[in-house]
Amino acid sequence: MGRIDYNRRDRNPGPPDLSCPSCGRDDQVSAVPAVYQRGRGRVRERDHEGHWHTRTVMSPLAQSLRPVPEMKVWPCLLLVLGLPVPFFWLAALGFLVAEPGADSFSVLVLATVFGAVLLGPGVFLIVKHRRAVSGRAGAEALWQRGWYCERCGTVHYVGDPRARSLGEFRREVWTAGGYGQLVDRYPLV
Ligand SMILES: [Zn+2]
Repeated sequence: MGRIDYNRRDRNPGPPDLSCPSCGRDDQVSAVPAVYQRGRGRVRERDHEGHWHTRTVMSPLAQSLRPVPEMKVWPCLLLVLGLPVPFFWLAALGFLVAEPGADSFSVLVLATVFGAVLLGPGVFLIVKHRRAVSGRAGAEALWQRGWYCERCGTVHYVGDPRARSLGEFRREVWTAGGYGQLVDRYPLV
């Protein structure tokens, strides 16, 4: 078993030309997925009650290079807040069966309205988002071919003489996934 010579690849004849069409150099050029992964990290922090939490943080650059738009927080929040509602509803239903009366009927109606207001939009928006990004494999296939030049802040593809701004690259990638219409709703950070 010999040692792996990592420099050997550079001496191979005909390596792909990764140089940036904008500055003509390749010393600050990295694959888009690598830049994206580098910009993501998990941090542990303590809240004011002394409990530790881990959360994912993303650099503005990694955010800009996302192949798929992130799920907004508030539909998930609606869903989480609305999850106990069916239990209230079942409890109210049970109460209504045991003791038919106007009061429990009001509780039932109230729980239904409350659940419809919280759960309905939450489920609808989450399903809509998942459906919208169902073509993400197509987007990622293009995204993986992107090379980012740190010097110019642009992205290019091997063999394509045009450098793209981050906004243009996002539009191309998201359009390849079938959700290019979401670009305008997710401004670059
Ligand atoms: Zn460049």
